[in-house]
Amino acid sequence: MPQHAQSTPVCRDCDGFATAAITTGARHQDGTRGTLRVTCPTCKGTGHATPAASFIRVGR
Ligand SMILES: [Zn+2]
Repeated sequence: MPQHAQSTPVCRDCDGFATAAITTGARHQDGTRGTLRVTCPTCKGTGHATPAASFIRVGR
């Protein structure tokens, strides 16, 4: 399946993976892992680039 057609407004900063869960390595007292959820600041967690945002990233 095609992943990155040029017409697809996928965020160039995160490639569509707008939210990443990072394991800190620590565990909470209830046994669950401590994770940090990081949301892509470029697309605000949507995974899709706005036309303005993608235009900015093009020249990098
Ligand atoms: Zn993004």
